Amino acid sequence: MRIAVLALQGAFIEHEQMLQELGVETFEVRQLSDWQQPKDGLVIPGGESTTQTKLLHDLGLYEPIRQAILDGLPVFGTCAGLILLAKQEDGHPREGLGTMDIDVCRNAYGRQLGSFHAVAPVAGIGEEVPMTFIRAPYINKVLSPSSQVLSVVDGHIVAVRQDHQLATAFHPELTTDYHLHQYFIEQICQTPS
Ligand code: GLN
Repeated sequence: MRIAVLALQGAFIEHEQMLQELGVETFEVRQLSDWQQPKDGLVIPGGESTTQTKLLHDLGLYEPIRQAILDGLPVFGTCAGLILLAKQEDGHPREGLGTMDIDVCRNAYGRQLGSFHAVAPVAGIGEEVPMTFIRAPYINKVLSPSSQVLSVVDGHIVAVRQDHQLATAFHPELTTDYHLHQYFIEQICQTPS
């Protein structure tokens, strides 16, 4: 199994390390020629969603990545990655990849208070999953029944799955808990190619 990790900006190295420790081969996507390699899944890391979106357009990666996800490529977005996948922000259409039926609230906890740690249940993964939030978004609501809520913290949705797409408002790659990455790998194994 080979997983592409979008490496334009943000916390991508930590994802690579976690996936490699789980026995998965990874490669970094910095330009179109990287993207054209064979892959079984894609990770979109945390960072700054506005910068990542601009770079995706500038590098000609936006359309091919969006189309691959729409065609069924498994994707895991964390924090800014979740924001990129969201179709809406506070009730309005977003400019990101927009492949997930979720409405996101950016910097939802305020710029200062957005960084904190929590331990909470995630459906299908565990009862005590450690979560690191950094200037985090949360999901205001899911927009279709195909988008399944996996976790709620303090009344806010922080993890969702929609078929082959997985997204968390927190950074599992900045903890020592491998369960979400393991879950993503299992999701890839279940996705028809
Ligand atoms: N607040 C950032 C954004 O809007 C996301 C923060 C993160 O990825 N840790 O893109």
